[in-house]
This record gives sequence, structure tokens and C-alpha cells, in this order.
Amino acid sequence: MTGMIDGFGRKIDYLRISVTDRCNFRCHYCMPEKQTFLPHRDLLDYQEIALLANRFIAHGVRKIRLTGGEPLVRRDIDILIRELGKHVHAGRLDELTLTTNGSRLEQFAPILAEAGVRRINVSIDSLNIDVFRQITRGGQLEQVLAGVAAAKANNIVVKINMVALKGQNQSDLLPMAEYCATNDFDLAIIETMPLGDGVVGRQDCYIAIDDFIAPLRSAYDLQPLPYRSAGPARYWNVAPLGLRLGLITPMSHNFCDDCNRLRLTTDGKIFMCLGSEMHVDFRQAIREQGLDAVDRLLQKALRLKPERHDFERQMIQPDLRLARHMNATGG
Ligand code: SAM
Ligand code: SF4
Repeated sequence: MTGMIDGFGRKIDYLRISVTDRCNFRCHYCMPEKQTFLPHRDLLDYQEIALLANRFIAHGVRKIRLTGGEPLVRRDIDILIRELGKHVHAGRLDELTLTTNGSRLEQFAPILAEAGVRRINVSIDSLNIDVFRQITRGGQLEQVLAGVAAAKANNIVVKINMVALKGQNQSDLLPMAEYCATNDFDLAIIETMPLGDGVVGRQDCYIAIDDFIAPLRSAYDLQPLPYRSAGPARYWNVAPLGLRLGLITPMSHNFCDDCNRLRLTTDGKIFMCLGSEMHVDFRQAIREQGLDAVDRLLQKALRLKPERHDFERQMIQPDLRLARHMNATGG
């Protein structure tokens, strides 16, 4: 196998797998309070996910991220984590990682470490217990912080994801920067993206990153870093804190030129772009048609991967907005 190149010459070596669309939180910018989820019969089972992952790895995927919904709430998820971990131990994958809300991390940290997970992203939008509970609609910050501590104790490198929410968590930025620097965690700040119907008021909570981080610029010295991860973040050193800060700016600075990823949903669709409804459905192929059909669909997905998202227009033009929520494809 020679690796995967899309129609715009981009090398695709990163697969994100949404293992469930369900979640025990209801972050207000991600999904409405009353959200309907996919029926269980539509979900790929672990054997099907592992088979698809094997195929993508054979074609050149070197990094897999589990996401959701909340990946750690799917029943027996440790089975899939261990199965995919075999690729890391055998050198077929450079990285197996996940994005989690951290609520079940205390229990799962040792399992992740054993499976070869060396780094994870944990989403925490505020270190204020009340603000955290409000944003997540009921999440317990103490539980999440205990999970993060367990990850650290198991030698898993942690990056904290914080979504920039106008008028809601800007005053939490300095405490968050200090918490991350003290614990040796990276911090990534993310602009809100216009995904999902039924999410009320998201346009009002959008704030450009440059405005959001103004308090950090006043308090500290931000120096650009040459460091690049596999993702779209641009990195800065926050001196003299010694914090590595990643800024993810899908809205104010487009990052599609070096997009290297595909996204597998819980029900077996590959989405080629977070900002487009275009997808290729692998479920029938994996259930009924065999690996040749899977390979053909994979080539189709590469051909159809769009050049870029259109979030800027979607934010101001509601009729263009995507109905799909972030929990369907993962962040
Ligand atoms: N439940 C896990 C978590 O929260 O980390 C994984 C899935 S969540 C969809 C992945 C990431 O997407 C989280 O960091 C979350 O804050 C972010 N996210 C969700 N909806 C978003 C939106 N509309 N715009 C920007 N980021 C969003
Ligand atoms: Fe759940 Fe993550 Fe969405 Fe929050 S951002 S509701 S934790 S999937």
C-alpha cells in the first residue's frame, strides 16, 4: 500500500473515530439539552470498527483518535482500546489517542496507558465549578480533575481543550493557563464552530481567538513556536509561565491547506470534512460486501474530500448551517 493522497495532494494519515454519539454532558455549544441519539442497531460494533481501522492502517493511517460523544461512556470501550492498542505495540500506528470530557478518566487511565495511549486531550472550559456545571449542563469538575490527575500519574501527556465562549469563560483563561503550566499540560483554545441544529445562542458566544486571549497577552509575553502537531493548532510559548499554548482558529484563520484527516462516525460513515455533509457510507460494505468494497469506498472518500470548510458563511447564514452536531463526528 502506498499511502493516501486526496484530490488536492494532501497526505491523509490521520483517522478520527467517533465511537458513540452519546454523552453524559450536554455542553451548550455542542448539543441541545434534549438530544436524540442513534439507535443501537445503527452503530458499528467493535469488530466492525477494528476491521475498518485495520484497512485504513493498511492504506497509510498512522494516527487514530477516539472521540465522540464521550468515548469513555460506550459500554466495554476498553475492548476496542486494547484492540487498537495492538497496532501501537506492533509499530503499525505511531499514535493512538483520544479526546474525552475526563469524567470517566480516573477509571480508564491505567487501561489507556497499558494500551499504548501516550497522550490525550481533555476538554475543560472552566476551572470554576459553577461555570463548568453551567457550560456542561451538570458536569462535575472535581471528577474531571481527578481523571486528569490519574492520567498524569499514569504518565499520559495531557492537553487541555478549552472552547472560547464570549462572556462566559474569558475570566477563566489566566487560572487555566497557570493550572496547565503548573502541571506541565499544553493548553489548546478553540473557536466555536457553527455545527448542529437546535443549539441556541451559539452565534452570541462566538469570539475570535485573538480577542479571547487578550488578557493572556496583557499578563504574559507570547512568542510564536515552530512546533507543529498533527492537527491545525498554531503554537505559542507563554513566557515566563513556560506554557505551550495552541490556538485553533477554524473561523478567523482557515487551516484546511494541510488537513490530513478523515472522520469515521459511529454508524459507519466517513466524513471527509468537519464542515461538510458530504460523506461515504462504509456500513453496508463492511457488513455485506467485504474488504474490496471497503477499499473502493476509501478511494472515493479521498477523491471527494473538499478543499476547505465554509464555516465563516455558515455562522452568519443559518440556511447553510449543518444539522449534524459535533458529537456525531467528534471534535
Ligand atoms: N466528549 C469529548 C470531549 O468533550 O472532549 C469528545 C467529543 S467533543 C465533540 C470534542 C471537542 O469538540 C471538545 O473539546 C469540545 O469542546 C469541542 N466542541 C464541541 N462542539 C464544538 C463547537 N460547536 N465548536 C467548537 N468546538 C466544539
Ligand atoms: Fe459531550 Fe464533548 Fe459535546 Fe460536551 S463537547 S456535550 S462533553 S461530546
